[in-house]
Amino acid sequence: MTEHAHEIEVTCPECGEVVRLSEEEASAKMKATCKKGHEIPLAKAIGG
Ligand SMILES: [Zn+2]
Repeated sequence: MTEHAHEIEVTCPECGEVVRLSEEEASAKMKATCKKGHEIPLAKAIGG
């Protein structure tokens, strides 16, 4: 088992790509970017 930061998954509303990123990164940026370059706002995805 590798030690990983908690990861979250978000789905790009534009293209449906599933993007994984660490919770730390997500809460820092409050957005994710899919492989195609769409920005995905994360305000609702985090907080728990
Ligand atoms: Zn996308």
